[in-house]
Amino acid sequence: MTLIRPSRRDILKMSAAAPMLGLSAPALANIGGPAGEQPSHFRFTLGDARLTVVSDGYFNTPISTVGINADPAEVRAFMEDHFLLKDDAVMNQTNHIIIELGDAKVLVDVGSGKRIYEDTAGNLLANMELAGFAQEDITHVVLSHAHPDHVWGTRDDFDEVVFPEAEYVMGGFEFDWWMKPGRVDEVSESMQQLVIGAVHALEPVRPQLTMAADGHEVAPGITMIDTPGHTLGHMSLHIESAGEQLLVLADSSRRAYLNFAHPEWVGSIDMDAEQTVASRRRTLDMAATDKMAVLGYHFPFPGVGHVVKEGAAYRFIPALWRWE
Ligand SMILES: [Zn+2]
Repeated sequence: MTLIRPSRRDILKMSAAAPMLGLSAPALANIGGPAGEQPSHFRFTLGDARLTVVSDGYFNTPISTVGINADPAEVRAFMEDHFLLKDDAVMNQTNHIIIELGDAKVLVDVGSGKRIYEDTAGNLLANMELAGFAQEDITHVVLSHAHPDHVWGTRDDFDEVVFPEAEYVMGGFEFDWWMKPGRVDEVSESMQQLVIGAVHALEPVRPQLTMAADGHEVAPGITMIDTPGHTLGHMSLHIESAGEQLLVLADSSRRAYLNFAHPEWVGSIDMDAEQTVASRRRTLDMAATDKMAVLGYHFPFPGVGHVVKEGAAYRFIPALWRWE
């Protein structure tokens, strides 16, 4: 067999022609890989709490949904400069956390099940098993808000509630907003599927559901806080043990680099832009001032890091792995 090897001159000619051929060069290195061959979870401690970030997988969304109140060229340049744009899409990771503190084992959000991003997400239960958790172990499930990637996984393929023993906890305002009779007729066409999906996801867990308000203590050391905007009743979670603190941001900040550098930029999925920015600034200010660690649901896995304030903006510093 004869191998035809391109000469150095051929390669130079090809790269010169690349812009005309519409090739975008250079391509991003494919750091990552298929599910099942990658870490399913990331474990660390916070005071006396054992924390485990468990992935539900990921899903991609078009760049056009990001930073919709900013210059599109500026948004694109930011994402490209941070190696976060591929094929005009941005990746959304799904970082759940299980908090083991005292007698409580608290899971935050249940993912999308296999109901929406079936090829790439819906892996929470499988990855929990790999991390050593049985479904019956979970004492509380906190639902940050009623979007598909956070709550559509309340039931399994047989329509059974996936954490039958757990107390579900959710903001009462959030629950009432989505469950209001006739809501589906009041929202835009693009929102209707979200309302119907939320009702289907929340109705089965209603008997196990506690309605929370700002300051609700899920278990000792684990407190819910109001962070409205992304949805109107969105809530985050504050964890404190032996003087150490972590803020589960959920979707109050969805993009570690973009939302920190440009906290005033919002996405098409953020329901109330002004509230989104106010809640983002409040949580990031809290974290920066009190040196709280943060977890972002959609940040690059495992999504844990720290916040540094820089003028009117912030910088995300991913937590580095430590052996001790
Ligand atoms: Zn989300």
